[in-house]
Amino acid sequence: MDIVKTIAQVREVVRKARGDGKTIGFVPTMGALHGGHVSLMEAAGNKCDFVVVSIFVNPTQFGPGEDLDKYPRDIEADAEKCRAADVDLIFAPEAGEMYPDKLISWVEVEKLTDKLCGRSREGHFKGVTTVCAKLFNIVLPDIAFFGQKDAQQAIVIKRMVTDLNMPLVIKVCPTAREQSGLAISSRNQYLSEDEKKQAALIYASLQKCEQLVKEGETNSEKLIEAMIGKLAESPCIIVEYINIVDSDTVADIARVSGQALAAIAVKLGNTRLIDNIILDTTG
Ligand code: AMP
Repeated sequence: MDIVKTIAQVREVVRKARGDGKTIGFVPTMGALHGGHVSLMEAAGNKCDFVVVSIFVNPTQFGPGEDLDKYPRDIEADAEKCRAADVDLIFAPEAGEMYPDKLISWVEVEKLTDKLCGRSREGHFKGVTTVCAKLFNIVLPDIAFFGQKDAQQAIVIKRMVTDLNMPLVIKVCPTAREQSGLAISSRNQYLSEDEKKQAALIYASLQKCEQLVKEGETNSEKLIEAMIGKLAESPCIIVEYINIVDSDTVADIARVSGQALAAIAVKLGNTRLIDNIILDTTG
């Protein structure tokens, strides 16, 4: 496994792999790799001949006052996990490699980014789509793998790829979870043991919602009420949003019919956590 820091090196290694007839799978990450990232690497390894992982804490997707400076970084532990997952190439650029000049060209997906996380994280998705567009142009993958954990991000990236005719496929993989049900996240490191226990209520509330849908409840207001009730079992969870939305447009829906997304963002102490579940009335 190679670890490279420059765009020129990535291009050279990938060009060679492609020349050998290999398909290229790509997993973009911000590092602090965990089981969720590893599940994406494994999915990439199953579908593609050559797997590239990028590790880049992208400054343009953090807003003022967010955790850019304290975001966990550990390239050696990350490399170990990549090696164990049979990754072929790590691209770990410095910020100056990705942004040598102040950026004046951005990729922005409208509408889908106004809602859910876009409400509280102004400019976040513009940073995400721009860095993903840059990374796709650098790596030129056949398939890029994203996690369902960041559902809105996956929806936005898919739309960018469709709207701009980017020549790759986006594959969205299931959320990897702790035993407690808590979605694995690099930010879970910020939680105390007690906070971690309370954080398990996030998935418990999503499961409650799923159960109610299975029992025939489709009214979004009632489903949201039930989720709020479950989260209220924690003395510390502060809800930022709970929405039931269309899984393509992210628009709020009054009733679940077919597939929909129940999405939650909360604050637990200083840590912001998100999770979601796909609802399906069709069986
Ligand atoms: P991040 O490093 O947090 O930017 O995440 C990089 C990729 O890993 C994104 O596509 C995330 O959606 C995905 N990811 C993060 N956590 C999980 C998880 N628990 N399960 C599956 N994918 C995840």
